[in-house]
Amino acid sequence: PCTEFDKAYFNSYAHVGIHEEMIKDHVRTNTYRDAIFHHQSLIEGKVVVDVGCGTGILSIFCAQAGAKRVYAVDASDIAVQANEVVKANNLSDKVIVLHGRVEIECIKDVEINEEVDVIISEWMGYMLLYESMLGSVITARDRWLKHGGLILPSNATLYMAPVTHPDRYRESIEFWRNVYGIDMSAMLPLAKQCAFEEPSVETISGENVLTWPHVVKHVDCYTITIDELESVTTTYKFRSMMRAPFHGFAFWFDVEFGGPAASLINPRVPVLPTVPSNNSPMDGSQRKKRTNPNEALVLSTAPEDPPTHWQQTLIYFYDPIDVEQDQLIEGSATLTQSKENRRFMNINLRYSSGGRSFVKESVMR
Ligand code: SAH
Repeated sequence: PCTEFDKAYFNSYAHVGIHEEMIKDHVRTNTYRDAIFHHQSLIEGKVVVDVGCGTGILSIFCAQAGAKRVYAVDASDIAVQANEVVKANNLSDKVIVLHGRVEIECIKDVEINEEVDVIISEWMGYMLLYESMLGSVITARDRWLKHGGLILPSNATLYMAPVTHPDRYRESIEFWRNVYGIDMSAMLPLAKQCAFEEPSVETISGENVLTWPHVVKHVDCYTITIDELESVTTTYKFRSMMRAPFHGFAFWFDVEFGGPAASLINPRVPVLPTVPSNNSPMDGSQRKKRTNPNEALVLSTAPEDPPTHWQQTLIYFYDPIDVEQDQLIEGSATLTQSKENRRFMNINLRYSSGGRSFVKESVMR
């Protein structure tokens, strides 16, 4: 249903800044464009729907790739500008901007009176699932996509890994131990709470990662259901590849732009480094080209890959745990759409190491 929260959500997309940030993310925007031209034979002469067109950029790429018709749908007022951009580029005969939501339960929903061959959407939020926009892509798929049609991206994977980040801990926490010669340790509890209560979006490097990532959730955009996204739980076991203070967990994702059959025939082959190094498991030099064996294009937000506006999402503990090389870290992670606002995400982390167990609950707002 449409809520006040949805209004606020769509209002946030009516500002130029958010679109500027996305478009200036060249890794993101170029990978989408490459994917569209990679699948040109499936787009030429075909009908496309762009779920959440924003400024219209992906719709226009599809028109440039030869689409017969592109429905550019957006519920935010940015659709007004998208329409102007389309006109100014003489594409009004091909790109039809629809100002409304893809969901039918809303008053301002959109109708498309034909089946579509292709769905394109840039729906990914922080930690992949924050914002819960994937549900709208599923709705569009179930309303309009032809059997055997193409969805870009075709699948997505959310990863997590334990991290060490001494610099961050020193700057935000240890700092208070000696301030201009004054012992301000009394500030420590507040500093920890303010710095680490909520997930933080920041860029880390491969060196911060203690071992190989664990797959939290794999999403096949052709088959995933809305119900499956309400709550995602995973249990994990890591062995730290080094001795280090363990500060928390990092989450990141990648999406693949495979063909329609790829997701039906080939189960996903994870894109992982080929050779583990001694103490830098995520060293970029050792990674394979960013394609999988099916030659699907990949948009990755991993720490060892070129940075994107998604960065990585970090969940820090209030106090680090010292781990030895090969020490076991195990537990579970549950990501749940918040009851108060389904665009928010509750994150429940359970972790044990060295005989001690902890729970960390946080909310991404
Ligand atoms: N495709 C653009 C913008 C992506 S941001 C680009 O790649 O630059 C996602 C957009 O989806 C936002 O503009 C948001 O308003 C829109 N959106 C999210 N959920 C939607 C829904 N249910 N119906 C219509 N538009 C939606």
